Amino acid sequence: MKIEFVGTGSIGATQSSSSTLIDNKLLIDMGNGIIKKLKQTGHQIKDIENCLITHLHGDHFGDIPFLMLDRFFYKIETPIHIYGPKGMEKTVKELFDILFPGDYETVQEIAKIDFIEFEEMKNVNIGDETYITSYEVQHGKLQPAYGYIAEKDNQKIGFSGDSCYCEAIDIIVKQSDFSILDMSWMESKKAHMGLEDILKITQTYPDKRIATTHMQDYTREQAKKQNIKNLIIPDDGEIIEI
Ligand SMILES: [Zn+2]
Repeated sequence: MKIEFVGTGSIGATQSSSSTLIDNKLLIDMGNGIIKKLKQTGHQIKDIENCLITHLHGDHFGDIPFLMLDRFFYKIETPIHIYGPKGMEKTVKELFDILFPGDYETVQEIAKIDFIEFEEMKNVNIGDETYITSYEVQHGKLQPAYGYIAEKDNQKIGFSGDSCYCEAIDIIVKQSDFSILDMSWMESKKAHMGLEDILKITQTYPDKRIATTHMQDYTREQAKKQNIKNLIIPDDGEIIEI
């Protein structure tokens, strides 16, 4: 599988909001600025077939109205499915109505976003032999917030979404060949992991490959200085194959 780190920063960072693209067509999170970022890096919006939203914070789902408008302007007809927490469609509509009052129905009629809300996904085939399982993670006061494992060709990629270090993170890392984890801060927080959690995880699972995302600039700099063997600290636009 091809993993492209579209955005690796957190709010306040110089790099874009956390978002990852798998095999050019499965996007994990679509926060503020991600649609333009995809275009700047040579992607075509029509190629995005599926999107997994981890939770309903603006830096993870805030660009869905702009995806809708892009599909509307360019009359993109290829289907798109957006998987996310219960209440996602209503929240997107409310956001759209604030940003572009009165246009939601007209745009959605052409954009045809298929919103799929769930409480739990267990080995759900999203097409192309890719299977998704969701895990409820702990993201401070916001519930639910999800992490995911995407499986294809017997390979598993794990995504923590935004989360503190909780049991679900261990489950995701243990099962996945490659995990992409929230490392917002230096220290552990109630809503996010920090470099201290990532150090613990890389030591506990020395044979697992781990990459970080959702990084503040300072955290990124400090993590790079640690030279951890099984840790990748990607910048926006980096691509790896697993
Ligand atoms: Zn969040």
